[in-house]
Amino acid sequence: MFESLTDRLAQVFQRLRGKGLLTQADVDQGLREIREVLLGADVHPEVARELLERVRARAVGEKLVESLSPAQQLLAIVRQEMTSVMGKEAKKLKLSGRPALVVLVGPAGGGKTTTAGKIAYYLGKRGRTPFVISADPERPAAGEQLQTLAQKLGIPCFPADRDPLAQVPQILAQAKKSLLDVAILDTPGTPPGMPPPSFLPDLFRLVPPSDTLLVLDALVGQEAIRMGQAFLPLGLTGLVLTKLDGDARGGAALSLPSRLRLPILFVGVGERPEDLEPFDPGRMADRILGLGDLSGLAEKLQEAGVSARAEKILREEAFTLEDFLGQLEAVRHAGPLGQLLARLPGRARPEEEEVEQEFEKMKAIIQSMTVEERRNPHIIGASRKRRIARGSGTTVQDVNRLLAEYEQAKKLLKGLKRGKIPGGKFPFSR
Ligand code: GDP
Ligand code: MG
Repeated sequence: MFESLTDRLAQVFQRLRGKGLLTQADVDQGLREIREVLLGADVHPEVARELLERVRARAVGEKLVESLSPAQQLLAIVRQEMTSVMGKEAKKLKLSGRPALVVLVGPAGGGKTTTAGKIAYYLGKRGRTPFVISADPERPAAGEQLQTLAQKLGIPCFPADRDPLAQVPQILAQAKKSLLDVAILDTPGTPPGMPPPSFLPDLFRLVPPSDTLLVLDALVGQEAIRMGQAFLPLGLTGLVLTKLDGDARGGAALSLPSRLRLPILFVGVGERPEDLEPFDPGRMADRILGLGDLSGLAEKLQEAGVSARAEKILREEAFTLEDFLGQLEAVRHAGPLGQLLARLPGRARPEEEEVEQEFEKMKAIIQSMTVEERRNPHIIGASRKRRIARGSGTTVQDVNRLLAEYEQAKKLLKGLKRGKIPGGKFPFSR
């Protein structure tokens, strides 16, 4: 997700970090570079300008905190402003009414039908009893696609393709008498830039939706703004941004919320039903800035059933190198390793194989330590490092790097526990 944006921003901050003290000229130069990177990632020029304007004002106005380097502080400000440009806080579906009516609208090919299945799956996992409705009078095949998807997921599907204005209200009235509590309505796509199907405003008068989500393909970048504007008259409540697993450049995620004045509720990260993530602006900013996404990571671990261990690590005061190894091991078994490790700080784009080798190396290093060293890493001085490097067939630099990563993970976990990492809410409190 946004690899090239992340890599390029990391380079800018790397250069700034190398400078130690920052002069006004350094900050200006840094902001100019960030602007270039954002525009290169197809962020709307106005959004980039406003974002950096606010960063500049704060970078000049705010007092320096002694414990942070100037580059770190600039990074923190960029992170906060980037978060706020994407909407500050995570927003949820309203799901009001019974059944709550969630409608998906958007240009053809954006991912509406796929997202209907994903949202149904998502809600089903959270104790709801969703069902889907297809309403495409023009294209019967569209209804079949939804039907097939629903069948696979074991979710009821009702066609309303013949006459949506008559059928949808009927279906909803029927559902009222059943246990089904969320209706997800899939609607016909229109060619990009064209107005939405004309029956929708009439339908919404008959059965007012609880949530009307505009589904847009992130790969089209800031062009999605223009596509989305055509749907605003429908009274939208939020956005779903799909295909963030592809090589989306970041333009859509950073530009849409402020340009369309709508929150992103979910992002699509693949074609499978489970490839849907609730959108959290703070977390997304962390990912874009390569700050890792430990709370997202913890959630993935939880889904993969390895949460007990992660939870223990997060709850306990002590976080030893043994725990660190355990955490790495857990991550390794939790799914595509590269994808998960990409969420750890400072690991923007690992290749799967590289990650595997790196993991083996880290494991060897930790295993070459004495139990005492693993529990009290601060006792590891130069001669112990040499011994450990020899024992694990690595170098002292490798040992240093592992210790640095361990320290970083420890700091992050501590921060998470105290809720100190901005936006990084404690992942197991729900
Ligand atoms: P619709 O025309 O808006 O209903 O779009 P569809 O749901 O039919 O999706 C169009 C194509 O995009 C399909 O091939 C989907 O599998 C694919 N797609 C949808 N969402 C995602 C996503 O988040 N990631 C990826 N990689 N593909 C997606
Ligand atoms: Mg469709």
